[in-house]
Amino acid sequence: MTETSPPSQDAKKVARRLALRRRAQRKHFHFYLRNQTWTFLQNVAAAPVSWRREHWVLGGTAVLLTLLVGVIMPTFASATRTDPVDMPYTTLELDLPALPAGAEAEAAVAALAADGTLDPDWRIVEVRSGQTLSDIFREQGLSPNELQRALDAQADATAMRRIRPGMEFAFDIDAEGALRAMRFDRDDSTRVVLNFADGKVQEEIEDRAVERRVQVAHGVISRSLFEAADQAGMSDPMVLKLANAFGYDIDFAQDLRVGDSFSVIYDQVYREGERLRDGDIVAATFINQGKRFTAIRYTNAQGETLFYTEDGRPLRKAFLRTPVEFTRISSRFTAGRMHPVLGKMRAHRGVDYAAPTGTPIRAAGDGKITFRGWQGGYGNVVIIQHNGQYTTLYGHMSRFANAKVGQRVSQGSIIGYVGATGLATGPHLHYEFRLGGKHRDPLTVTLPKEEPLPASELATFKQRANPLLARLKMVEGTRLARAD
Ligand SMILES: [Zn+2]
Repeated sequence: MTETSPPSQDAKKVARRLALRRRAQRKHFHFYLRNQTWTFLQNVAAAPVSWRREHWVLGGTAVLLTLLVGVIMPTFASATRTDPVDMPYTTLELDLPALPAGAEAEAAVAALAADGTLDPDWRIVEVRSGQTLSDIFREQGLSPNELQRALDAQADATAMRRIRPGMEFAFDIDAEGALRAMRFDRDDSTRVVLNFADGKVQEEIEDRAVERRVQVAHGVISRSLFEAADQAGMSDPMVLKLANAFGYDIDFAQDLRVGDSFSVIYDQVYREGERLRDGDIVAATFINQGKRFTAIRYTNAQGETLFYTEDGRPLRKAFLRTPVEFTRISSRFTAGRMHPVLGKMRAHRGVDYAAPTGTPIRAAGDGKITFRGWQGGYGNVVIIQHNGQYTTLYGHMSRFANAKVGQRVSQGSIIGYVGATGLATGPHLHYEFRLGGKHRDPLTVTLPKEEPLPASELATFKQRANPLLARLKMVEGTRLARAD
């Protein structure tokens, strides 16, 4: 009965559903039939760049997904977000533990301040080379007017005007871009804080405790001075300071021997417990080939700080022993030698210091540049006229420093750089020393002696020198005892 009865409402519904399903299946069938040749393996040899239909479909889907995740969804999310400021809020009263009273509260606030929580929001800027003050202010979005106000507010603005690379400025700028405060270190121990408020600028000077901590080092040379000093805990710049102190008496290029030793008292600059930089050599001894040299740092009555011997004679001499740093002598002063380029016997009337191209060459003494240019076999050459009858010559330079003809140079200032211009087989400095126009061997010539400290100053000097000398002797003594 139910089998043959006319289709009811339910049966009609079922039939429609079946028809829909069949149609969908047909569509799927067509889809799969059409796409059964799809492959994502590309035959590069046959079609290196051609994209088939399936690649376009896959690529398109990827682009669409990227856009959806990257652009459309965030935009939609932002558009639907309400401004948090407009959100209604309720204040709830909560029971909090009682605040510590009196001294305890003050301590807590002090701790908070020390923590930096109450500090302004400093943005620290380091001066790069070639930058001016206006560059730095402009970079922070500040006007020249604000720079002028900062300069005017200081009792002494020289330190701020004389900026150098590496110097740090800190700015506290509010949300509107207005300068609230700025600060910088005038020197190691002085910090300047400028507070910009209510159209006025107030200068605040903070003294920061700087201390010099004394260090003692002792080394014995087995391979090189640098290695020995490194083992003794000295930095490379401090080794150079040591070499410079004794550079008039010891030629560090050729005089050093295995077993030479040094003892140094030097200081390091600390600020608020933090190491700031290397200080200076206070006193030192250097035993070179059994000969003992002493250097004691002392500021004389003229305000000049120099190194002196134990009996108050300056170590400084009118001429440097070596006008280049840490080199080896490749050719000495001789009456005749085979010239390496010309292949003939020729007198070598100077000293050759082999050094890498670009090594700075220093003026051996105070004087005036009388020649700077090209001269035959010398290549690029500089000649300096010193006091009295002395002249020095520096040949084969790769290039010159800034000092020009007629300009006065002081001992140790850079006049050029090592090269191999002119008749030279490799980079070296050819150095000549003339007295009254006659060539002298710069390694053996007797140089004029510096005057010792006057009797009136000698007592003060000894007072300073004696404890230092005692300490150096102790350092040497303990090390010797330990070595035994
Ligand atoms: Zn030479």
